[in-house]
Amino acid sequence: MAAKQPGYVYILHFREALTGGKKHSRHYIGWSTNWIRRTQSHRQGTGRARIMEVLFERGIGFDIAVVIKAGPEVERKIKRAHHHARYCPLCGGTKLHDYRDWEGHDERY
Ligand SMILES: [Zn+2]
Repeated sequence: MAAKQPGYVYILHFREALTGGKKHSRHYIGWSTNWIRRTQSHRQGTGRARIMEVLFERGIGFDIAVVIKAGPEVERKIKRAHHHARYCPLCGGTKLHDYRDWEGHDERY
């Protein structure tokens, strides 16, 4: 077997903010070893991410803001952080560069 695949962290930027309750969400952060297939299932409102189902039900589109090669611990770090826009290039965020350096990955898609 080849070295363990670190997988990919991706940030999805919603074209409209998703509001409901006290939540006001504009991003979804995910991790997958196959981000292409995973984001395709998000587009179809399938998979286990409830927020993406809601997005689909409301007919709100999204863009794949960034994909970096990184492990699930990076996804958890970003998810826990506030102000996800700081990590989203489409929102002018640059904070992901820090993460990229920490993890020693420099691949971007
Ligand atoms: Zn954004």
